[in-house]
Amino acid sequence: MSVAIEYDLVVIGSGPGGQKAAIAAAKLGKRVAIVEKGKMLGGVCVNTGTIPSKTLREAVLYLTGMNQRELYGASYRVKANITPSDLLARTSHVIGKEIEVVRSQLLRNRIELITGTGKFLDPHTIVVDDEQRGERITVSASNVVIATGTAPARPAGVEFDDYRVLDSDGILNLEFIPASMVVVGAGVIGIEYASMFAALGTKVTVVEKRETMLDFCDREIVESLQFHLRDLAVTFRFGEAVTAVDVGPSGTVTTLASGKRIPAEAVMYSAGRQGLTESLDLENAGLEADARGRIFVDDNFQTKVDHIYAVGDVIGFPALAATSMDQGRLAAYHAFGEPSKGLMDLQPIGIYSIPEVSYVGATEVDLTKNSIPYEVGVSRYRELARGQIAGDSYGMLKLLVSTDDLTLLGVHIFGSGATDLIHIGQAVMGCGGTVDYLVDAVFNYPTLSDAYKVAALDVTNKIRALHNFAH
Ligand SMILES: Cc1cc2nc3c(=O)[nH]c(=O)nc-3n(C[C@H](O)[C@H](O)[C@H](O)COP(=O)(O)OP(=O)(O)OC[C@H]3O[C@@H](n4cnc5c(N)ncnc54)[C@H](O)[C@@H]3O)c2cc1C
Repeated sequence: MSVAIEYDLVVIGSGPGGQKAAIAAAKLGKRVAIVEKGKMLGGVCVNTGTIPSKTLREAVLYLTGMNQRELYGASYRVKANITPSDLLARTSHVIGKEIEVVRSQLLRNRIELITGTGKFLDPHTIVVDDEQRGERITVSASNVVIATGTAPARPAGVEFDDYRVLDSDGILNLEFIPASMVVVGAGVIGIEYASMFAALGTKVTVVEKRETMLDFCDREIVESLQFHLRDLAVTFRFGEAVTAVDVGPSGTVTTLASGKRIPAEAVMYSAGRQGLTESLDLENAGLEADARGRIFVDDNFQTKVDHIYAVGDVIGFPALAATSMDQGRLAAYHAFGEPSKGLMDLQPIGIYSIPEVSYVGATEVDLTKNSIPYEVGVSRYRELARGQIAGDSYGMLKLLVSTDDLTLLGVHIFGSGATDLIHIGQAVMGCGGTVDYLVDAVFNYPTLSDAYKVAALDVTNKIRALHNFAH
């Protein structure tokens, strides 16, 4: 049966971008529907990406006792033989809860949830096929938001058996904790999983085509991260390409273009992601995607067809849940004429490696390239009382401060709580504050936030020395 229903907004995809677009429009009093295929309510974020990977990481940190070893010794463990079910039990519990939260938010906001795969019939009409029930409905809308996200890219010639050769989706059904593993790709996902397995005691080899990793981050912090991962027995093979992965009964052998052969019990691929646009029949809406399935949008998240927006991973970098949510909200506001400027140039980047990394604003490389004079203030966790109490001797916080007007240009953090702590710097930057605020403000003690004050004093002393020289 086919029914045509009129909506103010139809959103395709219920990940963070789609959800927030739908909710923002509903709060403006609009009639909204969200289309989601199969069993993926909450999107990649809830089902296969952010939520499971961060829950898995939490389980790894807890059960291995990793963060307590500085205090209780290298042999400290909460559980000696950690099994996949120890780790995955926590993951499925949290996923279940999060799906319920999403469902209830949609219901509360009277957003119609339509189950099935959506595709364009024309620029205002979407056909939704519910393959399981064998049903098809047609909906029409004044505005459309495409938030269909991505799936892991699987290179041709590699046989993924989801047992020994896996991607970030397959890893969530892992049947054993491998003693050794090759991770192909040193992007954010690859490094996060390399960290988790290294913490579990797996001997990890990371193979990366480029000569460096996480190029968008502060170089000093990436060096610290590499040092820590090497200390956890991670081997890096930079500037190396994989030519073959062979699977046998007892393991795998990964062959590199340089001729090296790396035996390992498992191989995890994290070599990019592909936008989910193929089944959308974009041409019926007058749109197209690039070779990686991404849709081009302008600063308002509008595609070249004015009433069709695209948000989240399907538009490319930075492809984070955090940014996708705000893109969704901003797209809905723009569609319905609600003013909002957003703060997209101050988006934080969080990498849940072990230890974690986070930053906001410019890097030293950016500032140097653009000839913007700055000074650096550093605080080391080992000099903070909270750092000693927590047993984190390696963490550091770095402030980049303009020597012209003392504004904060960038904040870079490595260590415990980095992804939370970053928001103090972000707030100061967002409000146009200077480093003086961090010098003058009184922080709770003992906290890791105190790192801001220590780094602010450090940079202020350096800038004073410069000032004294000039006068
Ligand atoms: C392993 C991993 C770890 C991550 N960790 C983090 C992290 O720590 N922090 C962070 O901020 N981000 C993280 N991310 C990224 C984050 O998950 C994504 O940025 C976010 O999920 C993207 O949201 P989205 O709205 O674009 O849609 P997605 O979450 O990708 O969801 C898209 C939805 O659209 C649906 N869909 C697709 N096509 C159709 C169709 N034709 N009809 C109907 N429905 C359709 C899909 O089924 C899916 O449910 C991680 C990603 C991965 C893979």
